[in-house]
Amino acid sequence: MLRLKNISKDYKVADTKVLALKSINLSFRKNEFVSVLGPSGCGKTTMLNIIGGLDKYTSGDLFINGKSTKEFKDKDWDNYRNHRIGFIFQSYNLIPHQTILGNVELALSIAGLSKTERVEKAKKALDRVGLKGQYNKKPNQLSGGQCQRVAVARALVNDPDILLADEPTGALDTVTSVQIMDLIKEIANEKLVIMVTHNPELADKYSTRIIKLLDGQVVSDTNPLEEDDEIKECSNNLQPKKKEKAKMSFFTSFKLSLKNLFSKKVRTVLTSIAGAIGIIGVSVVLSISYGVQTYIKNMQDDMLSGNPITISQTAMDISTMMQSTSMGDKIDAVKEAGFVNVDELMAFLAERAGNGSIMLNNTITKEYIDYVLSIPKEHLAATFLDYGIDITNNIYTEFKEKEADSPSNISLSAIKTLYTSILKKTDFKSYSSLIATLGDIFMQAPTDENYILSQYNKTYGEVAKNKNEIMIVLDKDSELTDLLLAQLGYYTQDEFLNMIYKTTDDPLYDSSLDKTRFSYEELIGKKFTWYPNNTVFSKNNNPVTSYYQPFYYNASSDNFEGGIELTITGILEPKETISYGCLTSGFYYTEALTKEIIKTNIESEIVKYLNEQIEDEKGDSFTSMNLNGVDMGITYQFSFNYLDATYTETGFVGSSSMLSAFMGMMGGEAQEYYTLSLQQLGGNDLASKISIYPVDFEQKDYVLQYLDKWNSDEDVIVNGITIPANERDKITYMDNLSIVIAMINSMIDIITYALIGFTGLSLVVSCVMIGIITHVSVVDRTKEIGVIRSLGGRKTDVSNLFNAETFIIGLCSGLIGIAVTYLISLLANIVVNALTGIAVIAIFPWHYALIMVAVSVLLTLISGFIPARSAAKKDPVNALRSE
Ligand code: ADP
Ligand code: MG
Repeated sequence: MLRLKNISKDYKVADTKVLALKSINLSFRKNEFVSVLGPSGCGKTTMLNIIGGLDKYTSGDLFINGKSTKEFKDKDWDNYRNHRIGFIFQSYNLIPHQTILGNVELALSIAGLSKTERVEKAKKALDRVGLKGQYNKKPNQLSGGQCQRVAVARALVNDPDILLADEPTGALDTVTSVQIMDLIKEIANEKLVIMVTHNPELADKYSTRIIKLLDGQVVSDTNPLEEDDEIKECSNNLQPKKKEKAKMSFFTSFKLSLKNLFSKKVRTVLTSIAGAIGIIGVSVVLSISYGVQTYIKNMQDDMLSGNPITISQTAMDISTMMQSTSMGDKIDAVKEAGFVNVDELMAFLAERAGNGSIMLNNTITKEYIDYVLSIPKEHLAATFLDYGIDITNNIYTEFKEKEADSPSNISLSAIKTLYTSILKKTDFKSYSSLIATLGDIFMQAPTDENYILSQYNKTYGEVAKNKNEIMIVLDKDSELTDLLLAQLGYYTQDEFLNMIYKTTDDPLYDSSLDKTRFSYEELIGKKFTWYPNNTVFSKNNNPVTSYYQPFYYNASSDNFEGGIELTITGILEPKETISYGCLTSGFYYTEALTKEIIKTNIESEIVKYLNEQIEDEKGDSFTSMNLNGVDMGITYQFSFNYLDATYTETGFVGSSSMLSAFMGMMGGEAQEYYTLSLQQLGGNDLASKISIYPVDFEQKDYVLQYLDKWNSDEDVIVNGITIPANERDKITYMDNLSIVIAMINSMIDIITYALIGFTGLSLVVSCVMIGIITHVSVVDRTKEIGVIRSLGGRKTDVSNLFNAETFIIGLCSGLIGIAVTYLISLLANIVVNALTGIAVIAIFPWHYALIMVAVSVLLTLISGFIPARSAAKKDPVNALRSE
């Protein structure tokens, strides 16, 4: 059944050739017990390995059942070893980290048998060699004889035709040797057994044929087989074995590696942790970056309500501002050593002036307002038209002056001026203009009640709806500023002064006058009345003085009739979840009142007068401020007491110019330069400012696209009427929030990339390390590689073995990595929350976790790939020889 024809084998050692076998010619019967004897180094093992297909012959041919093996591929040899050959080695070659059952199963695993089949067969084989019930012992728990029994069971479990035994009793004592020989003889009585031994007695006792080798040549053969017989022998044994295929599943490799890793727990854990470090680094950076971005995303939608897109008559041209080169660069560019360039500054300023101002003027037309109002509703939470009305000149309330018996009714602007004057007499002189610049205290609320209620809770009463209704908006901590309340007349003059005394530790401070809080009843109970322009401003008919005093202003409403009494219907407070609402704290009236004001005031004397002025001044070199407003003359007289002295002051209506306020704040002499524009007087039915509140950031992009269309060359259709591009003025809107958010986001991106770059380095380090560890593992498991190959395992099976190992390590690293990342994220959130109150700063979404585990597995697989390949390429003979 086997025939060696002129088989030679030589090994190249350094420059010389060692002839291990020299033209061997031998034939074997299907069923005989052959002993091969010969001194050490004569080539016995070499011959056995060649017969077993572990080693390749250099020349000659090996016939198996009459078939030449010259054309055999790796696959054929693997099949041959797996199904036809059983190997028994002197040193047992059991895999130490597997149970003996596992060791025996291995041969069947390689053959691709199912688990139940494997266990059944393996147990049967172990039973036959007398190891019943010891299946789960590890090889190191067995004696040498028992180990060799396992080896015999493993060799025979596949029911091979040929049993090859290389000095099977070489490491055993005489008694055990005999037992093992009996066993082999018994089990293999119908097979071809070729046994190498150095023990002639055993050979004599058990074998039917003895072949002696010397220096790689056959010197004697007690029972040679003639060629004719061999052919005859073959002819009645030509049935090929069914399904001869060696195939180990990846799952089997996986389990083998898992067992191996389990047997080296400490090393596996340490390797996984080391591998996890890089993953942790990158994951934590991703987690924080994602968390911060989520925070900003939530924040930005939230901030939208406080930072709408605005279109006003003047807009800041941010792009021009960003582009303009700094003065420093300009002067630096032409610096000469030893000289001071004096003309460069002027050149720079000239250029700057040529570039145009940073402030742009927008001409807001009826068409444009209609255009904005026809933005598709799905993008918008609300739009708000601001007509720029200064209502404080027209609203009157009760105010108790010092030493007055009863309160008088004076206008809010008079109260404001009174406090400004008082502050100027105190140590707070420089802050007096703060009152003027504190901004509006009486404002119009957006009309959309639902939008307001999406951000505010009704703490008291209802949202104002009608023209005679107003409401109070508190800030987050239910506060209204003292200054605001003072301007609204809630403090008497004495109470206000007392606050100043308290702050300045003045002995005049009277603690009984302290007012630290207001009840809702006190707030609600106050009366405000609005009077039209014709009541408030009376024309000066004196032709001499009317040039500089065209109108008188009536600070007191004692003689007034009619008016609209404003009722406070409710108090609103921002919701807990809202950081930036659409309303700042203060008093809010309704759009209905705005409409009423414009309807009434647009016909008023003062508005008519102003319109005439504007008509007259057209083309003149007046500034726009002059052009649009009454810039002088509307003054009124009032007196007040301070520190027991009575002062008489002149008040102005309108708003002081920015310059005047600024000068006042800097401690300089504020120039009393006031303007009162058509807009402030309610004399313009076109809004001066439009605020657009998109639903969220995504919708905002659509809104911006829509607004940009106005400035494009395309035709624009408003209410069915086409407006061509040349009839439209460019309108610059302000979207400061987007600029800030974009800046923050790009900053986060840069920081994220930089950090991932750094932490990525540790990922590279762990990859290299895993490569090294896999290499060590390959060296460790060389014997196992040899065993698997001798059992018919393919090269692929071997590389799978190590790929499975790196896969497991990569998986562990990845899982440890993300577990630690979740832990760090949790801790980071707790710490950041404690420090800043921000709820969540690190978020590691599950799909990032999956990706990072995949990255970990992939990287370790890649780094283990080269060692795994080298393992697969190992010569099985050398692998088995290694200790
Ligand atoms: P035996 O088993 O009879 O003791 P071997 O078959 O192991 O002898 O070795 C036969 C000869 O071939 C010896 O001289 C040995 O040194 C040589 N040899 C065996 N394997 C190798 C190898 N891998 N490289 C070089 N020489 C080898
Ligand atoms: Mg040998």
